[in-house]
Amino acid sequence: MTVDPVAGGTAHDPRVEAEVRRAALSQLLKGGPLAEAVHVLLVVVVAALVWNSLPLALTAGWVGAVTAAAALRTWWRLGLSRRTASPEEALRGVRLTVAGVGLAWGFGAAAAIPALGLDQAALILVVLAGIVAGATGTLVGDRRSFHYLLLTALAPLPIGILLHGHSRAHLIATLLIVLFVGGMDRVHRRAYRTFVERVRAAVLLASSTQDLARQHAYLDALIASTPVAIAVLDGRRSIRSVNPAFETLFGYSTAEAVGASIDALIVPDSLRSESSDLEARARAGEIVRVEIERRRKDGRPIQVRLSAAAVKAAPEGGLVALYEDISDRKAAEQAMRAARELAERVARARSAFLANMSHEIRTPMNAVLGFVELVLDTELQVEQRRALELVRSSSEALLTILNDILDYSKIEAEHLELESIPFDLPKVVHATATLLAVRAREKHLELTVDVPPDVPHIMRGDPTRVRQVLMNLIGNAIKFTEQGEVDVSAAVVGYHDDRTSVRFRVRDTGIGISDEQLATIFDEFTQADASMTRRYGGTGLGLAISRKLVALMGGQLSVTSEVGRGSEFSFTLRLPVERSAAAATPGRAVSLGGRRLLVVDDNETNRRILRDMLGAEGVAVHEAARADAGLTALRRAAAAGTPFDIAILDAQMPDQDGFELAAAVRADPDLAATKLLILTSAGQRGDGERCRQMGIQAYLTKPIARADLIEAVGTVLLEAPPAGAAPALITRHSIAESRHTLRILLAEDNLVNQQVATAMLVKRGHQVDVVGNGREAVDAIGTHDYDLVLMDIQMPEMDGFAATQAIRALPRGRSLPIIALTAHALSGERERCLERGMTGYLAKPFKAHDLFAAIEGRTAATADTAAAPAPPVDLAAFRGTMREAGAEAAVDGILATFASTLPQRLEALAEASRGGEAEAIQRAAHAFRSAAATIGAHRLAQLLEAMEASARSGDVARAQGGLQDVSREAQIVLDHVRLAVDGGGDHG
Ligand code: ADP
Repeated sequence: MTVDPVAGGTAHDPRVEAEVRRAALSQLLKGGPLAEAVHVLLVVVVAALVWNSLPLALTAGWVGAVTAAAALRTWWRLGLSRRTASPEEALRGVRLTVAGVGLAWGFGAAAAIPALGLDQAALILVVLAGIVAGATGTLVGDRRSFHYLLLTALAPLPIGILLHGHSRAHLIATLLIVLFVGGMDRVHRRAYRTFVERVRAAVLLASSTQDLARQHAYLDALIASTPVAIAVLDGRRSIRSVNPAFETLFGYSTAEAVGASIDALIVPDSLRSESSDLEARARAGEIVRVEIERRRKDGRPIQVRLSAAAVKAAPEGGLVALYEDISDRKAAEQAMRAARELAERVARARSAFLANMSHEIRTPMNAVLGFVELVLDTELQVEQRRALELVRSSSEALLTILNDILDYSKIEAEHLELESIPFDLPKVVHATATLLAVRAREKHLELTVDVPPDVPHIMRGDPTRVRQVLMNLIGNAIKFTEQGEVDVSAAVVGYHDDRTSVRFRVRDTGIGISDEQLATIFDEFTQADASMTRRYGGTGLGLAISRKLVALMGGQLSVTSEVGRGSEFSFTLRLPVERSAAAATPGRAVSLGGRRLLVVDDNETNRRILRDMLGAEGVAVHEAARADAGLTALRRAAAAGTPFDIAILDAQMPDQDGFELAAAVRADPDLAATKLLILTSAGQRGDGERCRQMGIQAYLTKPIARADLIEAVGTVLLEAPPAGAAPALITRHSIAESRHTLRILLAEDNLVNQQVATAMLVKRGHQVDVVGNGREAVDAIGTHDYDLVLMDIQMPEMDGFAATQAIRALPRGRSLPIIALTAHALSGERERCLERGMTGYLAKPFKAHDLFAAIEGRTAATADTAAAPAPPVDLAAFRGTMREAGAEAAVDGILATFASTLPQRLEALAEASRGGEAEAIQRAAHAFRSAAATIGAHRLAQLLEAMEASARSGDVARAQGGLQDVSREAQIVLDHVRLAVDGGGDHG
């Protein structure tokens, strides 16, 4: 079928077009067996009309032709349903049979008309016009069939008419036929278009109805298969529909649910009002989401997540509610909560256990180490000393292991917090290396420490942990190195605002670590090689702890190594630089800074230890390994105009011993100003006398405690030999004796610790009263004068904190130094003690020099354990001095005078400073300084000394610049002194 141009414009959808074709064909083929009988009837009528006018043969032929054509068409049409013909074939048949019928009529009429009268001819024309008119309906489905009929039936007629005659009437009839043909064509065209449109509309309607039905079915399937329970409610909270998931979740069938009130069905009574609130919110346009309880048909409660929203688009309104079962999640949450609570309980228990263990382990260790140190300080036979040294080193090793294990547990339990306190970084590095120098010396290893001067002195961080890591790394380096050296260094690698990055490095020339072992040495309990444990010992925890500590401090511990050549461990810490360095290093009475010192000792380690100990104090330490080299160095320095202030001579040297060297020095008049200190490891009777005679200023035995060495050097340098009189020899005993005797109250419940501390203090020359708990301590202070209290924190009856509080409330206790003793070496403990009104803090087990440093207000070897800032005025020392001189009664008077004259002195200094005259400033500062130094205001004295020195060197601007600090410190000193005089003034 060719597409009709009329319908062509709308022919887009092939589906629709096919449907149009199908409808047209069925329209063309429609009709029963009698449909064509009308043609036979009409031709018989026409035959009757023309019966007498036409020859019989023609009439009979016409009737026969039309009847045959009609019969053929009927036969073909009816037969088609039995045959299977393609639409094209069928259409072709329609057109042919239609043309056949048309031809029978047309040629019959054309042959008949010339023989007829005009009226009869007109009647025939009317019949043909009727047939054509009828065909606009019966052939509406196909334009071409209609055209065939039109042409075959009507085209012959004008021939017949013109054969009939040529009158005007004939011409008009012909014209009318032509017009009729045109008119009928237009009528058919319109009818055809209408037909096509109708069919198309019907097709579209049918297909959209199908689509709609499909969509409906899809939506229904969606809702039915949604795993979330859905209920649609109407305006009265009745259920309009539910899905299968709702049936499953709540146990109601759809029949039971639909029409029922949602409240009655699934809302527990107690939640009804809340439920209607939720509904109101949802109807107001909010999308409500809550987790809530609902009830199943069997009465069991069920936890659901309810989401509800108003149905907006639908005119009937309503509410859609979604219920998700969250019982599993709720149960899991509950289980998780329980697990977390359990974990927290366990963690608390673990932390308490750790604290307890720490206390329980450290307390007896304290006794062991303390007593050993005490006994080692006495005169001992070589064997005894060796045995005790062994006990000490074993105990220290044991303590190290215990600390490792405790630390490791703490890190594991995330209980390790770092401290952030000012500390002297170079000193920590030196001190750590010094501690291990003996071990290195025993293995004949060179241990070098390099901290360049640009490394800031006072930084803020956790010195204990820095030392611990270094200790482990240096210890390992020594342990795993058989020959060569161990280099320790700390160097600045970057600056960032107020922080400085310092890279710590420990390098050795030892056995090295293989690549595969490198991967695991930082793991807990791992040692590179199992056979090492037997050979070198160790727990395998050290590096694991070190790595974690470094990470906690913000760095990363890394290692490079080559088997057989050595290893290098390093880490970088970014630490804040402490500007107020003065506050962190309490001033010393005797400043060793800038002094020149020569160590003459064949033993490298000894030289290094001395250099480290004294170097950290700012002394310029030079070394000589032999007596003759020492003498040369002394002479050369003197000749250059920079004589050594002091020389430390080892008594036992291979070629020429210390005494011989001392004799040579004293024989040289150029070296008379150089003080001499002899260090011996085997003291002999008569040595003291010998020293005195030889003009040696000090005589000390090895090993020497750092505090003693510094004190001895300080004293030697301070002492001007009184003219004429033989100078007093400084010995360990004289140092002890020269110390100010303090009256100390020790509050400690543990008997052993009482004995240790008491023994140490008494040996040091102090007076000690012991009490067993806080209550007794408070009572004792109420009735006696003390210079200082050592306060255990954990005590029965009244603990250290409560006792401190009570003491602070007493007139005598207001400014009394109270130093906490605690076995919890936990971070934050120090702050806690200071917050509670204590002046200082000492962790057990403590070494003797830590204790002395803490109570005597000096910088400790371990700056962090005795980090109590020195008081602005060392009143205890002043009182002690005065007491020794038998003039303690004058103390308060002197202090009062100092306090009353301080403003004038300050004013005089300010005046001089404003005047800008160097000499005036120097004078004012000097006078003020000696007054301050006398009462023990060391920091103030130092500041004034600096001002004085600047003025003396002519640097007036610098001297003037110091005034502000002096004024500030002077105010602090004044407050302190006033408090002492007014508040605690009944001392003595
Ligand atoms: P420990 O020293 O107690 O065995 P560490 O965790 O400190 O435990 O060290 C783990 C292992 O790493 C050591 O046993 C050793 O095998 C290896 N190791 C550590 N430092 C060095 C080093 N400087 N040279 C060679 N091997 C080392």
